[in-house]
Amino acid sequence: SVPLSFFGGIGGASKLGILVKGSNYLELLAHVDTVVFDKTGTLTSGTFNVVAIHPEAGVNPDYVLSMAAHAESFSDHPIAVSVRAAYSGEIDQAKIGEVSEESGHGVSARVDEHVVLVGNDKLMAAHGASWHDCDLKGTILHVCVDGAYVGHIVIADVVKEDAEAAIASLHDAGVRRCVMLTGDRKDVAEAVAARLGIDEVRAQLLPQDKVAAVEELLSAEKDGARLAFVGDGINDAPVLMRADVGIAMGAMGSDAAIEAADVVLMDDHPSKIAKAMRVARKTMRIVW
Ligand code: ADP
Ligand code: MG
Repeated sequence: SVPLSFFGGIGGASKLGILVKGSNYLELLAHVDTVVFDKTGTLTSGTFNVVAIHPEAGVNPDYVLSMAAHAESFSDHPIAVSVRAAYSGEIDQAKIGEVSEESGHGVSARVDEHVVLVGNDKLMAAHGASWHDCDLKGTILHVCVDGAYVGHIVIADVVKEDAEAAIASLHDAGVRRCVMLTGDRKDVAEAVAARLGIDEVRAQLLPQDKVAAVEELLSAEKDGARLAFVGDGINDAPVLMRADVGIAMGAMGSDAAIEAADVVLMDDHPSKIAKAMRVARKTMRIVW
């Protein structure tokens, strides 16, 4: 049987904009000592801005951006949205042929009889293309047309306003470690983590690597301590299901993440995680 106070806990959480899908998750939340975050869209806004375009010698920067915007024209990824937003020209969808989005890598598309690749080092390597890293201060999108490297686009997203306070309040609540997982570059990930007070970072991960990382962290949990994972993307669903408590961003998050989660933060504020733990412990009558 479920103590009546559990229902009070779910109601109290919902008033804070925290949807808890069952009373059992309050009990698990109360014992969380490891919180694992996905970076993009969870700790950062998920809205990228193009900050620079670095064409190869003799290539027009507008050409690099135009090819990238066309290749990304069918993608819902936040990176694709930012590339399209930066491109002021018109995207003629009739020019776009076969498109394939490779998760954790980028996209490959046929644009006007050309084969265009837009993505990270892994994408270039997977297609046998070479690349140059000229400016490393950001997330890099390499652009390759018909096997020739034409340049790269530097993009950046911003840390959410309450992210630093969110990590501090989790540490205050006795959370032993806050971990960040990301498919993004190591230096970008480390800069964000250092700024936020994250204890551990793992970068350049593919979706399946995130599942493996959570499994490894779960196996290190001791004495009934629990692990929560917080994410927002389609690729996060398997990890959300694997964690003891899966927490999804509800406002900007994907339907797949919201569906797979046990707890949904309706306003996407990471500071709500410590608040949810506080409600859970109060409900369980665990002294904070
Ligand atoms: P995160 O772990 O930050 O949520 P993803 O797993 O969605 O990121 O993507 C990881 C990396 O894969 C991105 O940083 C980018 O380099 C590359 N990537 C993914 N999707 C795209 C895309 N549509 N266009 C270009 N690059 C992409
Ligand atoms: Mg993501």
